[in-house]
Amino acid sequence: MFEKFIEVNSRGAGAIRDWKAKTGRKVIAVMPEYFPSEVITALGARPVRFRGAQVPISKADTYLQSFSCTTTRTILEQALNGDMDHVDAFVFTSMCDNQQNLAEVFKRLFPDRPVIIFMIPFTSQIQSRQERLREQLDAAIAGLEKVTGSTFTQDAFGQAKVLHRRRGDLISRLYDVRRRNPGAVSAYGFYSALKAGSFLPVEEHADMLGPLVSRLEKEPARPAEHRVILSGITPEPLDLTKVFDEIGLHVVDDDMTSGGRLYSRGVLPGTDAADIDGFVFGGSPCSTLYDPSKDRRAYLTEKALASGAGVVLWQIKFCEPEAFERPDLMGRLKQSSVPVISFEVELQMAGLEGIKTRLQAFKEIMEEMRRQG
Ligand code: SF4
Repeated sequence: MFEKFIEVNSRGAGAIRDWKAKTGRKVIAVMPEYFPSEVITALGARPVRFRGAQVPISKADTYLQSFSCTTTRTILEQALNGDMDHVDAFVFTSMCDNQQNLAEVFKRLFPDRPVIIFMIPFTSQIQSRQERLREQLDAAIAGLEKVTGSTFTQDAFGQAKVLHRRRGDLISRLYDVRRRNPGAVSAYGFYSALKAGSFLPVEEHADMLGPLVSRLEKEPARPAEHRVILSGITPEPLDLTKVFDEIGLHVVDDDMTSGGRLYSRGVLPGTDAADIDGFVFGGSPCSTLYDPSKDRRAYLTEKALASGAGVVLWQIKFCEPEAFERPDLMGRLKQSSVPVISFEVELQMAGLEGIKTRLQAFKEIMEEMRRQG
């Protein structure tokens, strides 16, 4: 069912290079979330998200401190390995100090290609936040127009929105079907299907998702006794999702920056200040965004209680935004008798046995908590 997506992921950047050679169009790297990709599509270019990869790090440590998170370190390693040679410009969002630092490193190491920074303001003053976001998007569009040689028009933006909305609607249905019938959707398959979107044009990704979603919606209900919600930045290394399938922990939902948090934002509806603000801040809470009107602790606790699931805090080592929220989050979940486990990963790690053992123990704890009512 998921083979085609797994195959796309195994080809990786090769498919993007082929696309570029065939179409002659520009490739824009998005690092990594909350920049509206539909703007890039509207300019006739191809947005490609880089979220880090399972690659051994050797060169990147010359430029980044070893206590930088492995998302940034492996993104830089990919660039230094030549895996981004087909990229014409880099768009960074100011998600965290690590990303901002990485943008500066890219400026120095790859001076032949523009680095565009989309700063997301940290302020509770909504009007200033909206104005700043509008300025940021205008500047990003102007930079992208130079790279692509195209002019941003509302007509082209409207067409791009249709493409991205179609894909977004299918992903929402995929999330819904997993919530209703988690036993029918493997964690590895689910996240392979999402990840393939990093390597495919949006319309091709949607074409592949359509039949998958229709098929899954017809699957009979399967037992899914031990349910969990994944919470963190990104479900990488992807091989770790296989461990959940192997030991019978059924992922019913997620609260991940490259998953549910991103897709809860939908598509940028327009280019007015309020539209941009609604897109960036309108989705589910995220550790990388400053929004005092949202409480991630309450959000996640309610989600877990509603689906009878435990929570797995999938932490990337040295990811400060997530690490800062972890103690509070765990406290609130425990207070509400939601089973919770936290572990740290590095994207390039291969040995997953230690985490597997901890997840097996977590499953037993969930069983015991259920027995005790
Ligand atoms: S949000 Fe966390 S994982 Fe992502 S780049 Fe920043 S520190 Fe790294």
